[in-house]
Amino acid sequence: MSEEFLPFSRPSISRAAIDEVVACLESGWITTGPRVAQFTENLQAYLSAPFVLPLASATAGLHLALLALDLQPGDEVITTPLTFAATLNTIVLAGGKPVLVDIDPHTLNMDLNQVADAINEKTRVIVPVHFAGLPVDMDVLYQLARKHELRVIEDAAHAIGTVYKDKRIGSFGDTQVFSFHPNKNMTTGEGGCVTTTDAELARKVSLLRFHGIDRDSWNRYGKSGKQDYEIVLPGLKYNMMDLQAALGLHQLKELDHFIARRTELALRYQEALADWPQWELPGAPAFHHRHAWHLYTPRINESAAQMSRDEFIQKMKEKNIGTGLHYRAAHLYPYYREQFGYQAGDFPYAESAGERIVSLPLFPAMTDAEHDRVLDVMYSIFS
Ligand SMILES: *Cc1c(COP(=O)(O)O)cnc(C)c1O
Repeated sequence: MSEEFLPFSRPSISRAAIDEVVACLESGWITTGPRVAQFTENLQAYLSAPFVLPLASATAGLHLALLALDLQPGDEVITTPLTFAATLNTIVLAGGKPVLVDIDPHTLNMDLNQVADAINEKTRVIVPVHFAGLPVDMDVLYQLARKHELRVIEDAAHAIGTVYKDKRIGSFGDTQVFSFHPNKNMTTGEGGCVTTTDAELARKVSLLRFHGIDRDSWNRYGKSGKQDYEIVLPGLKYNMMDLQAALGLHQLKELDHFIARRTELALRYQEALADWPQWELPGAPAFHHRHAWHLYTPRINESAAQMSRDEFIQKMKEKNIGTGLHYRAAHLYPYYREQFGYQAGDFPYAESAGERIVSLPLFPAMTDAEHDRVLDVMYSIFS
C-alpha cells in the first residue's frame, strides 16, 4: 500500500491569495508598501491591537521587541525551555540572560509559580510562550509583572486567534510577537508581527526594523524632499514585503475558519486517543479560553508503547506519515549548556516532554479520511 505522504502541516493557500500575489508582482511594487499598510490595518482590527508592526519573521519581532527594552549586562529574562530556539536566541542577541523555569506538565506552558520564585532584582522581562496556542494564565502573569515592574514580551508565535477569557491574545497586556511561518496558523511565507500597547516600544520597533530611518525627522527639521530622512539609531532590516502581505491579507480572512477546522481535528484526536495507554494527551487549564490548536502534541508513554518517541516518528515515516517534534528542551542544546551551565535534570518536566512529545498531522485542509489514516497507522504500529 503506497499511500501518498501525509505531512504534519501544510498551508492552505486560496486562489484569491495566489491572485493577490500575482497582482502584487505585476503592480511594480514588491517590497513594503500599500499591501503591508492594508495588512497592518486588518491585523489591528482583528486583534484589537493599538500598535501592529509587520516584520520579516517572529524571530525578528522577538529580537526587536527585546532590543527596544535596552537590556543591560546582567539583566535577566525569564522564559520556558519548551520552546523553539528563537525564543532563547533572541534574548541572548538582545543582551539578556535567559533564565529558565520548568513547565506545568498538564498544559505544557511555563509554571507561573516557578516564575514567581525566579524573580530577583536583576529580572527585567518575562517571555511566556502560549504553547501550541493554549494561553498562559494572563491574569496571574500580569499581576506578577506589575508587582515587580517587569516587562512582558509574549512569544505568541502559536497564538494568533487564541482567546484568553474573553480577550484575544494581542488585544491587551504589554507586547506580543506572532509568527506567519508556513507551519503556523496563518502564513505570509516567512513573516511575523509585533503588537503592543506601548507607543514608545512601537516607535522603537518601527525604527529598528528599517535601518533606524526616521521619516518624521525630515518633517520635524524642515528638510525638503520625500527621499530625505534621518538615521536616529543603527537599525536592522526586518521589514515585511508587500509580496508577503498579499498572502497575509487573504490568510487573515480565513484564519477563524482555519482554527475551527484545526479545533475539530484536535478534538477528534483527543476523543479517539482518550483510552490509548500509549499516549498522554494535552491538558486544558480551568479558565475560559479558545485554544488556537497550532499543534496537537500528545506525549508518548514509552513503556505502554514499547518504543521511544524517535522510534515512533520513524515508524510513522515508514508508513508515509509525517510528524513534528516541538520541542526538545532548549537548555540542553550545546550553546545553552556551555554558556549558561544548564544540564540534564534542571527542568524535569520540560525534559520529559522534550523526549516524549510528538506533533501529529494537523492542518486545515486535512480530511477526516486522512485523520482516520493517522489513527489506523498508529493503531497498527502499537499492536
Ligand atoms: C515559529 C516560532 C518562532 C519563530 O517564528 P519565525 O516566524 O519562524 O521566526 C518563535 N517562537 C516559537 C515558539 C515558534 O514556534
